[in-house]
Amino acid sequence: MTTELLLRDANLWGAGPADVLIRSGRIAEIGHGLRSCEVEELGGKLVIPGLVDGHAHIDKTMWGGPWASHASAPGLMGKIRGGQERRPELGIPSADYISALLENMITLGTTHVRTHVDVDTVMGLDAVDAVREAFARHEGRVTGQLVAFPQAGLLIAPGTDKLLEEALRQGVDLIGGLDPAGLENDAVKHLDIVFGLAERYGVGVDIHLHDRGSLGEWQYRLIIERTRALGLRGKVTVSHGFALSDAAPAVRAELLEGLAEAGITIASIAPPGRAMPLKELAAAGVAMTLGNDGVRDLWSPYGTGCMLDRALLQAQQTGPLDEDIELALHAATYGGARVTGLADYGLAVGDVADLVVVDARNAAEAVCVRPVRSLVLKAGRVVAREGSLV
Ligand SMILES: [Zn+2]
Repeated sequence: MTTELLLRDANLWGAGPADVLIRSGRIAEIGHGLRSCEVEELGGKLVIPGLVDGHAHIDKTMWGGPWASHASAPGLMGKIRGGQERRPELGIPSADYISALLENMITLGTTHVRTHVDVDTVMGLDAVDAVREAFARHEGRVTGQLVAFPQAGLLIAPGTDKLLEEALRQGVDLIGGLDPAGLENDAVKHLDIVFGLAERYGVGVDIHLHDRGSLGEWQYRLIIERTRALGLRGKVTVSHGFALSDAAPAVRAELLEGLAEAGITIASIAPPGRAMPLKELAAAGVAMTLGNDGVRDLWSPYGTGCMLDRALLQAQQTGPLDEDIELALHAATYGGARVTGLADYGLAVGDVADLVVVDARNAAEAVCVRPVRSLVLKAGRVVAREGSLV
């Protein structure tokens, strides 16, 4: 059955006023005076492609559940241990909490999510199961990519490698890694395991790299080397990667060239004072996605899952010009699509109709005002209207 929907009097980001005819889930025609039986009158509102959250941890969330005051011990290890200890009493991971957060994200215009999912020797693959169930409850409204994530370490937590492998065997999309040097104390061995699993299961890699300074720079080089050697162009992402923003100009230029040449992408949550140099990345041809990271969990009480909030945070650290703000929105949309490998994404004829309608005159205003999403479409179907699930 062919389904049609006409978005009449739209303002397409980058293309201006037009009608958009959607047929069988894709943009079929863009023009003026188009006709269809099913019509949404947009009254000149802005249409952007579906927002992509390229770095989330939805398995950890307590959204819709209890409020637990933030009380973890300092440092990465304090958070890791705190998370493991308090999870059972709070009912984490919970398909209900995850599903509630996904609902909020959908109403805020997110149509695709890459989420890291904890795999550890305490709970095994429980979080993978919970995340899968939550996505199943929202089938047709949002798509997801799972990263098997060794949050509690890999070398320092023996047995985790086998669990990660089991997750990949069960079809998890990517293999994750975490501070190969800073947390694991053996970057080469950690990366050998992670890239070995990627090769064996034909999956992509997404590595959390918080290590700063020369230690972080060295690990960037190791990741570039392995990506090249295994021909994983377009399938490897460095998350956070603070060392790149810290690096001296010459080192930064060298790393950016290496990343571009190896086809490695970046995921950033644009934390205040530590955002990525987005203009330099764009100039070097290195794709970057934005993400919300943890939302209301034991790691952070903050966030709502809103990708326009995240774009604003990036924009505030990129610059005040419309083009700076648009670049941040670009990372929250097209950048996310590139990093996560979404095909046929965008606002052209033939693209999948993952679309968001906002009451704004242009992209910069959409980011600065962050209005209620008037409509959210997933593959041509209206899934949210005026901030509520349809
Ligand atoms: Zn993360």
